[in-house]
Amino acid sequence: MARTVDLSTVEASGKRKWIYPIVSRGLWYRRRKWAAYALIIWLVGVPWTQWDGRQTLLFDFYHRKFQVFGWTFFANESSVFLGFVLFFIASILILTALFGRVFCGWACPQTVFMEFIFRPIEQWLEGTGLSQKRWNQQEYSKKLPRKLVKYFLFFSISMVLSNTFIAYLFGSHHLIKMIQEGPLSNASIFFGMLFVAVLINFQFGWFREQVCAFVCPYGRLQSILLDRHSVIVAYDAKRGEPRGKLGQTSGDCIDCHKCVQVCPTGIDIRAGLQLECIHCTQCIDVCDEVMTKIGKPIGLIAYNTQAAMAEKPKVIFRPRLLIYGLVFLIGGFLMGAFGLGRKSIDASLHREAGRNLFEKVGQTEFVNNFKINIQNRLDESQKLSWQLIEPPSAELILPEGEIELKPEEKRSIQLLIKMKSEDFHSEVGSIPLKIKISVDADNQVDLNSKIFGYESDD
Ligand code: SF4
Ligand code: SF4
Repeated sequence: MARTVDLSTVEASGKRKWIYPIVSRGLWYRRRKWAAYALIIWLVGVPWTQWDGRQTLLFDFYHRKFQVFGWTFFANESSVFLGFVLFFIASILILTALFGRVFCGWACPQTVFMEFIFRPIEQWLEGTGLSQKRWNQQEYSKKLPRKLVKYFLFFSISMVLSNTFIAYLFGSHHLIKMIQEGPLSNASIFFGMLFVAVLINFQFGWFREQVCAFVCPYGRLQSILLDRHSVIVAYDAKRGEPRGKLGQTSGDCIDCHKCVQVCPTGIDIRAGLQLECIHCTQCIDVCDEVMTKIGKPIGLIAYNTQAAMAEKPKVIFRPRLLIYGLVFLIGGFLMGAFGLGRKSIDASLHREAGRNLFEKVGQTEFVNNFKINIQNRLDESQKLSWQLIEPPSAELILPEGEIELKPEEKRSIQLLIKMKSEDFHSEVGSIPLKIKISVDADNQVDLNSKIFGYESDD
């Protein structure tokens, strides 16, 4: 027999069930509101701030350059990035194992912008809950003026967010320059920005909680990331059941459905922990209000753990937390070790493609062709000095004597290593090659390879 699953935002027919939540302005809502405003100011404001003379956060994928609180990293610094990815993933895993989906309810841009920017505008124009639903059922011509105002405001905010996105990707000073030059001077970026604005508008104007319920991979992983000791928003069924009208049942839940009416994903928390629950705490606030009105203790819905509700002992250090903690430390160590130990230049030595391993020059000498890819990691010029460490008998031939790299410049430099045939003590063979490139005593890079040739009888 086919199994059916009830989805809070989908009718049995498969049609979208639109959610018209009421807002409960209780204690947790007020706390979340201030956290949300702080995050919004931070998110929109950070690209306009400087740290140590550079944009505080910049994710310049085009130039494969990332600026994070005064540090500049390039995409080829894989160890630092691996460390960061491990650190970031482990932080989310630890946070989730300890506090459930606290990120979703308090810090996810979807929740923050939806509940504290877009929904308040909509409810200001259309009302809330049932009255909003009724207002939306009237003829389109009657609601058109307010809908136009709503979508004008939505699109204006989407444009601000989309431009903020550009500031993170290309830099705020470039954004100002592009605005001054006009849209057609930077057409591809302009249309990219418009596309992102339309996408943001679509997300907050229409798609909304569907992203939490069906798209977000973090939400999907919740069932494996949480355990019975994770703090979640939970209904205390022991205390609440049997539910019923006030005075007609021994349970504290008076079945008023207010916790369902405030839920932005349309679920009933009394059915237990569900994938759609974004831990927004609205049901806590409204139920506390109900409990206060009927003279019962607050906390029928509260932050709690499944273990505590089953009166099992509290366990903080679980095996999963120890494993996540280990990954966290490895990530932190990689970031620290490779981040702090990084040099002001990056260099790699390669053999010239399409060239012979070695070429004979005259009767007694060989040359090997190499290419060095070098990058200045600083935003100031650097002069490089070169030294051939091994083999001492060889000669290093560079096209220019002294090389100066401009700020963040990448360059490929051809070089030749000349060897005497008598230095090879076999038929075709190789000798280790070591070149040192230095800026100063703290910024030196050793490059290793092999040079080829043979002992000639000529
Ligand atoms: S708000 Fe509280 S009392 Fe009302 S239905 Fe929900 S859990 Fe029961
Ligand atoms: S069940 Fe409660 S905490 Fe979860 S999404 Fe709904 S209102 Fe928010």
